[in-house]
Amino acid sequence: MGERASPDVVRRMADLLRAGAAMLPERCPICGLPLFRLRSGEVVCPVHGRVYIVRDESEASKVTVQGVLEELEKFVAYRLSEAMRRAEAGQEPAAIDEIRGWLDVLERVERILGMVSVSLGEERRGEERGPSEPRRRGRR
Ligand SMILES: [Zn+2]
Repeated sequence: MGERASPDVVRRMADLLRAGAAMLPERCPICGLPLFRLRSGEVVCPVHGRVYIVRDESEASKVTVQGVLEELEKFVAYRLSEAMRRAEAGQEPAAIDEIRGWLDVLERVERILGMVSVSLGEERRGEERGPSEPRRRGRR
């Protein structure tokens, strides 16, 4: 590979491995470093962060949908936490309505994401996700 890994990058790779990430045979399309699959299922480059491995066009469109939905999910989570804070601050009726609305959106996002990621998983060989393990993302 053309790039040589700086000490910084090596440290980041070590951190990824320590966090339970798996090194993949695929390389970052930008810098050529090996990619890592996080326990959450996300694929990241130690330098460029999240990248998508795209093998064909139909997969590319699914990956785009997935990316947009994941953004939406973060947005909804953020708005939910705001609404919760407002409920705690005594504005309950309005805040509860809002929470209900965001939960609706979240439920749909989760459902669609589940469908998209399942079909992505099927097309990938060597996927390391356990057979019965559901999609897990940063839930505390
Ligand atoms: Zn990279």
